[in-house]
Amino acid sequence: MERKPFILANWKMNKTVDESVDFVEEFLPMVADEVEVEVALAPSFVSLAAVSRALAGSAVGLAAQNMHWEEGGAFTGEVSPVMLRDAGCRYVILGHSERRQFFGEGDGEVSRKVQAALREGITPVVCVGETLGERDYGKTFDTVGVQIHGGLADVVLESGREIVLAYEPVWAIGTGKTASPEEAQEVQSFARTQLADLFGGEVAGSVRILYGGSVKPENIGALMAMDDIDGALVGGASLEPESFAGIIKSVIGET
Ligand code: PEP
Repeated sequence: MERKPFILANWKMNKTVDESVDFVEEFLPMVADEVEVEVALAPSFVSLAAVSRALAGSAVGLAAQNMHWEEGGAFTGEVSPVMLRDAGCRYVILGHSERRQFFGEGDGEVSRKVQAALREGITPVVCVGETLGERDYGKTFDTVGVQIHGGLADVVLESGREIVLAYEPVWAIGTGKTASPEEAQEVQSFARTQLADLFGGEVAGSVRILYGGSVKPENIGALMAMDDIDGALVGGASLEPESFAGIIKSVIGET
């Protein structure tokens, strides 16, 4: 099944509006011809509109890092799917481990958010992954299976292209420790079986499953060579145009 590689930058709580726009201006000429790979940037909420304008006319997409599931109303501090769509977002990252760890998000919220994003025509990028303790206790598959079944509960898909899954082992995020390509493949192939349980084999076969956790230009090639690794969610190495463009160029070397 043909799945277009997808590389998504997660800037987390970094970069002012000006710094975000400066990044785009430096980055776009570096990746102008790279149409074989889908690329998107997830700046902070306050930079979305400016980054959207800076990306206009390019193939690089815009993503948000989170959202609420309601269309609007009395939810102080929150941002709705309608607002994200209006700001030009094509994707939204949901259930990132930092949201789960620091803001108490669970699979129930993730499922509501996924359904809301789909209603608004925004592609959800649903993050799952085990902690080091869970891996050490042999609970990796249990954790990832529960997160997939819970986070995608009540979700109806016509095609696997409507969602993206990201496997991000918590112990590999921002630590410099990457899962080996074989470790990541083992979990990502399991994740695809869980998607098949929920949506059938054909839909599961067309869902892109990204790997995230200390991805760099030096390790992306070996990761992407694995059957069920269809791209990457990149934190630290996406903050500089050279390293993020380096990741994209390595992926093209592999496709
Ligand atoms: C992330 O937080 O989604 C991530 C993958 O971060 P890093 O690349 O810095 O490990």
